[in-house]
Amino acid sequence: MRHAVISDVHGNIEALTAVLADIKKRKADSVLFLGDAVGYGPEPNECVRTLKAECSVLLAGNHDWAAIGLAERKHFNPYARAAIEWTAGALRADCISALGDFSLTHQRPEEGLFLVHATPKEPERWHYLFSLWDAEVNFKCFSEKVCLLGHSHQPLIMERFPSGDMATERGGLTFGKTERYIINVGSVGQPRDGDPRACYAMLADDGVRLHRVTYDIPKTQKKMGDAGLPHPLIERLSRGL
Ligand code: ZN
Repeated sequence: MRHAVISDVHGNIEALTAVLADIKKRKADSVLFLGDAVGYGPEPNECVRTLKAECSVLLAGNHDWAAIGLAERKHFNPYARAAIEWTAGALRADCISALGDFSLTHQRPEEGLFLVHATPKEPERWHYLFSLWDAEVNFKCFSEKVCLLGHSHQPLIMERFPSGDMATERGGLTFGKTERYIINVGSVGQPRDGDPRACYAMLADDGVRLHRVTYDIPKTQKKMGDAGLPHPLIERLSRGL
């Protein structure tokens, strides 16, 4: 099986469209979505409808839950909260109901995959997984070979050897027979690793590769300005931070 794995679209239809076109060229059997369809970006409805049409798995992220009232908004920084409030007002009924059906986790035992937005440990608490220590704690919270996640908007592959040693990779790797992996697939609509291009992962039985895709950033920024979204959120798209 070849899966394209995407996350953190955040209402950015320009980035999502460019990524889906790139995925078509590379021929995936399915597209798996790891959450945060909305929040930050100017076109939440278009993104929810496109994801629903294109993805065989749809997970919920913290912005999705906050936008439809399933998670509290007080934990978000003021810019993120302003964007969530704007999104809540912009979402149409069909999209609110679709987001309510997105699940927190998804397991594919036959393929050795565990999917979640934030972390296998307490998925509904939206922890961040940055360090190898975080990874060590989380490797104990799923039994499959590979965990796919998003949330931090920073693509990274963490590899755990049977000895307990760990290593990190950025571009991609071939899976070892006895190793296990936590793979952050990065963000489609708001990358934060210093590269403003959209990011996603292509996953095959024998390994994974992270891909970057250019999209029309000024077009998204113009729509964000027209919608009155906070300026720092508009500006950060150009820097990928
Ligand atoms: Zn996100």
